Amino acid sequence: MTDRSARRSFLPERADQVTVRRTNVAVTLRSLRDAGPRSRARLAEDTGLNKTTISSVIAELAERGLVATRGVHRAGAAGRPGVVVEVDGRHVYGIGIELNVDYIAVLALDLRGSVLFERRLPIDVPRLGPGRTLDEITTMVNEAIGVADRQGGTDPVGITVAIPGLVETNPGVLIFAPNLGWRDFRLVSELSRRLGNPSYRIRMDNDANLSAIGEWAFGVAAGTADLVYLTGEVGVGAGVVVDGQLLRGAEGFGGEVGHMPLEPGGQVCGCGRRGCWETMVGLGALLRLAASPRDDVRDPSLDLEERLKEIVRRAEANDSRTLSALEQIGAGLGVGASILINLFNPKVLVLGGYFARVGPYILEPMVAELQSRVIAPGMGGCRVELSQLGFTAAVRGGAQVALEPVLDDPTTVRPPRRKGASGGVA
Ligand SMILES: [Zn+2]
Repeated sequence: MTDRSARRSFLPERADQVTVRRTNVAVTLRSLRDAGPRSRARLAEDTGLNKTTISSVIAELAERGLVATRGVHRAGAAGRPGVVVEVDGRHVYGIGIELNVDYIAVLALDLRGSVLFERRLPIDVPRLGPGRTLDEITTMVNEAIGVADRQGGTDPVGITVAIPGLVETNPGVLIFAPNLGWRDFRLVSELSRRLGNPSYRIRMDNDANLSAIGEWAFGVAAGTADLVYLTGEVGVGAGVVVDGQLLRGAEGFGGEVGHMPLEPGGQVCGCGRRGCWETMVGLGALLRLAASPRDDVRDPSLDLEERLKEIVRRAEANDSRTLSALEQIGAGLGVGASILINLFNPKVLVLGGYFARVGPYILEPMVAELQSRVIAPGMGGCRVELSQLGFTAAVRGGAQVALEPVLDDPTTVRPPRRKGASGGVA
């Protein structure tokens, strides 16, 4: 082999080594995030990398502030404590945004899963329109970046916006959000322009999809391979996880369960049709059934959590109109959910949003309907759970998705600004 040919083959090989190295770093970080802190030896075993490689990979991750080590004493073991490696990355964070009918919410989450910033603003989004709503969102995002910055954060690594409607995920176009009355809006580029065209990625997804991801990562059914998450807002959508994968459909428009026609000749829906499931069980239906038009609980400028607390308070006081409204919602929920359970046979059906807030009053009539309508015995092994993430499931899922680029390639992360921000390497 001549010198020249040796050199020629050397270049691609170097490129391959870089790729292999990057992959090893990514695999190790993801393994730590998904399966928790472990010793280097255990980590080598789980990732299939040898101990020397693991040590150098951990050193690189530690230098970038993405992992830290700590000593642990094993019960009954004498001598030096063992050392485990864990995810750090407190300077690295993603931002989730949710825009819904009567609020916008922003949440910043660091790589450890700690919330750095969280805020929800009650506003009448359909009345405000796209431009002014994005102005409000921009102010909140800048506030989040300021707060994260004071906690040692660098720039966000990404932003994900949750929308109650159909989203063309790639070009970032909102196709149709029936309950907002928005159509064909270039949301991602408009938001990017307002934020000064940042280098990090801004993307957008359906709120039910992102909520399912949030629930899958942090919620009552975390890690469940087959789960259906139902959003409980003015609109109702489903995030369907099958075999650990989010089900999106051919064009990404799957999960629009709120528009299943379940009540012929029923109420007019935001989509223009009549009798869609969400006209029976969405937040609008509950408010219409439980309160007169001038009642404060129907005022969208008041905080939704407060309005729901008032409804629960009335239910606790045995107010008959409230109780019958909640029973009707529960039964309607069971009718539609039985279709989803018959279709997907999930292990868990998670009720999100307002459903979770009024859960104790809707579960009984809902489960009664499910038991009579689900064809598989014992509801096919499905249990119904109330989300504990409340109205934060979508923003949490969004922030989680925004962090993905770091898990795909941790070598893009710059080391933290402050020394000692990570636990260092023992
Ligand atoms: Zn509809």
